[in-house]
Amino acid sequence: MRAKTKMIHGGVTGDEQTGAVSVPIYQVSTYEQNSAGKPRGYEYSRTGNPTRHALESVVADLENGKSGFAFSSGMAAITSVMMLFESGDHVVMTDDVYGGTYRLMTNVLNRFNLEHDYVDTSIAGGVEAAIQPNTKALYIETPTNPLLKITDITKMAELAKKHDLLLIVDNTFATPYWQQPLDLGADIVLHSATKYIGGHSDVVAGLLAVSSSDLAERIHFIQNSAGGVLGPQDSWLLMRGIKTLGIRMEAVERNTAKLAEFLQNHEKVSTVYYPGLPAHEGHEVARRQATGFGGMISFDAGSGEEAEKVLSRVAYYTLAESLGAVESLISIPAKMTHASIPKDRREELGIADGLIRVSVGIEDADDLIEDMEQALK
Ligand SMILES: *Cc1c(COP(=O)(O)O)cnc(C)c1O
Repeated sequence: MRAKTKMIHGGVTGDEQTGAVSVPIYQVSTYEQNSAGKPRGYEYSRTGNPTRHALESVVADLENGKSGFAFSSGMAAITSVMMLFESGDHVVMTDDVYGGTYRLMTNVLNRFNLEHDYVDTSIAGGVEAAIQPNTKALYIETPTNPLLKITDITKMAELAKKHDLLLIVDNTFATPYWQQPLDLGADIVLHSATKYIGGHSDVVAGLLAVSSSDLAERIHFIQNSAGGVLGPQDSWLLMRGIKTLGIRMEAVERNTAKLAEFLQNHEKVSTVYYPGLPAHEGHEVARRQATGFGGMISFDAGSGEEAEKVLSRVAYYTLAESLGAVESLISIPAKMTHASIPKDRREELGIADGLIRVSVGIEDADDLIEDMEQALK
């Protein structure tokens, strides 16, 4: 089954009993047992719920994993993955990971002595040097936010194998439609399903898939113990989102390629960051490991003031954090998502004050370009 067919026919589809084509929303917490200790399959909805199960099974299919798991947010999924480790363990991480992941590691899990180091994983050379005797995992994000840096997943998988580490990939920006990290040797792939997988700015959720039944057992134990599960309504919304993920990603990418070309040729724009552009540092690796370049694009408008002017003038780009929705979203990382990072550190990372990030939606590309043109005037 190819990806777009899996989105419709993968996992559990419909309802056998009634023939309903859509999976029912099992709004239920507990299940009647045949006799004491003899449940009919489900016993309590933290442990398992049929609607959530249907979502989890389609996620496993999309990522070519053994099992999938759904959580109440991307951060709940990431926290659960980190619960695989013990006090004193060490994780090597991509240096420009999502801000919430950074905060979890530096301000929460540090209290449990889970050690970590950040390295630029887009340069494979530096990663091996950061591996210590207590290192248990490589945690990468590719592409990253907001500069769309690309890490070579296959190279990371080789390193992980050599040093007996788990390879964990945050695949939020690429989506399983464009990139399947488990096929490239990763052990765990995870998503903020709040973004492209949900796709309509109406649900907060996290998903993950694992490559082995051993990991599936350990993650299910943590999911059931820590309890950050996704409810049945939100599980249903994600399944609905997944049905159009393929066609949405194709529409988003067509729009993004056109906007990238427009921005590249605009005199007021100095640098455009988009992995689909041959000039982008990660272009070759992105081409090799993914079938699409996605819908995130950043560009330098020159200064913080210029960037603010653009944001105040656009009509079809909603000024908001988050990404991956049908509507185009626009933000200034230095003032919004990355405001908590000190200015020198931001500059080191290449996040200029005038950098504008766009999550391209599925509006008509000509409207998006005309709107950006008038805003840049
Ligand atoms: C949004 C995001 C997260 C966190 O997900 P939530 O659903 O907001 O908890 C993690 N990683 C990336 C790359 C994200 O964009």
